[in-house]
Amino acid sequence: MKIVIIGGGVMGTAIAHELAGPGFEVVILERAIPGAEASTAAAGMLAPQLEAQAPGPMLELSMRSRGLYPAWARSLSAESGLDVAYLESGALQLAYTEAQAHDLDALVAWQQAMGLRATLLAGPEVCALEPNVSPEVVAAAHFPDDHQVDPKKLMKALSAAVARKGVSFRTGYARRLLEENGSVTGVDLDGESLHADLTIVAAGSWSSLLPGAAIDPKHLKPARGQMIELALRLPPVKHLLKSGLGYVVPRSDGHVICGTTVELAGYDKRVTAEGLATVLAQAMRACPMLKDATVIDSWAGLRPWTEDSLPLLGVGHLKNLVIASGHHRNGILLAPITAKLVGQLVRGERTSVDLTPFRPGRFSSFGG
Ligand SMILES: Cc1cc2nc3c(=O)[nH]c(=O)nc-3n(C[C@H](O)[C@H](O)[C@H](O)COP(=O)(O)OP(=O)(O)OC[C@H]3O[C@@H](n4cnc5c(N)ncnc54)[C@H](O)[C@@H]3O)c2cc1C
Repeated sequence: MKIVIIGGGVMGTAIAHELAGPGFEVVILERAIPGAEASTAAAGMLAPQLEAQAPGPMLELSMRSRGLYPAWARSLSAESGLDVAYLESGALQLAYTEAQAHDLDALVAWQQAMGLRATLLAGPEVCALEPNVSPEVVAAAHFPDDHQVDPKKLMKALSAAVARKGVSFRTGYARRLLEENGSVTGVDLDGESLHADLTIVAAGSWSSLLPGAAIDPKHLKPARGQMIELALRLPPVKHLLKSGLGYVVPRSDGHVICGTTVELAGYDKRVTAEGLATVLAQAMRACPMLKDATVIDSWAGLRPWTEDSLPLLGVGHLKNLVIASGHHRNGILLAPITAKLVGQLVRGERTSVDLTPFRPGRFSSFGG
């Protein structure tokens, strides 16, 4: 079976990794450099508990994926010979006011009721755990099972692992899906008709621009996130720190990734003065020691945002079409479960997660 995947980000490559093997010829179509868009702009937090607003299908999907990560990271490292910097960091969500502490108390309570490990720490306990966190912090929710990976290293390992498994990459722009009698038969790649028995759309924020995929740009659009990388001699903290949209992700070498903004600003990847000021202010408030850090880099990436914050995952509106997009803020985290579920769909097995809430057609008339 020939499978063509449009998009060489973490989704397309993780799916290729899952499918490559006897019986499947897998080709990834990438218009530029594989992994160079959202997938390497990401911070790499694997943090469903830190991200969760409420119980629901997104939390369930995210928890499943987090559970797959340690083994997935180990196997990618073994297959590629490259480290992916998977770190069992744990995470702290910070409260600077009593009102925020009250909200964290409720968050911890419902997560504990679900059997998840979560604790509310008072200010002095936060200080004992992380002495370089701001003295302004009055409380924090502690999620020891939220971890991190380095997305740049992950993408290198994933690309090497799929190449070893015989997946081929074609550089080119997928102009549209080819269709015959209600089935997708392949892709127009820069004017060449490329036949496929199955086509998978994993084109991130650009998925809704692909003619034939029937994804409305109103429902899937780019959400810019701006980031700054700082460096100190030693990591200032061990845990991922978050407050509101601001976060600090300490790598083991003393580099610190600071995020972020969420801006529906079209396909504009500029880093702006206001964006940088916001990100830096949030990071320095959480960890004042960062005021003295060296600025290493800044960048912006485009997250595939969806209207209801759930990915588009499942069969498309035509036969032989699968959509795996719209993972917004959590695509690094969700890569292994997405790949596993697409593998189950392609092999005709029952999926281990109910895909109904993620139906790609849920916003449109075809409903599939
Ligand atoms: C600033 C920022 C911080 C983030 N932090 C985290 C985090 O901490 N944890 C987490 O889990 N997630 C995080 N994310 C989200 C995560 O990065 C994304 O959800 C994920 O990378 C999406 O992967 P993707 O493969 O769908 O998209 P992308 O990585 O954008 O890949 C899509 C690929 O498709 C290609 N393409 C598009 N159209 C075509 C076409 N027509 N023909 C050929 N190729 C095409 C593009 O060139 C691109 O390479 C963050 C994202 C950003 C931007």
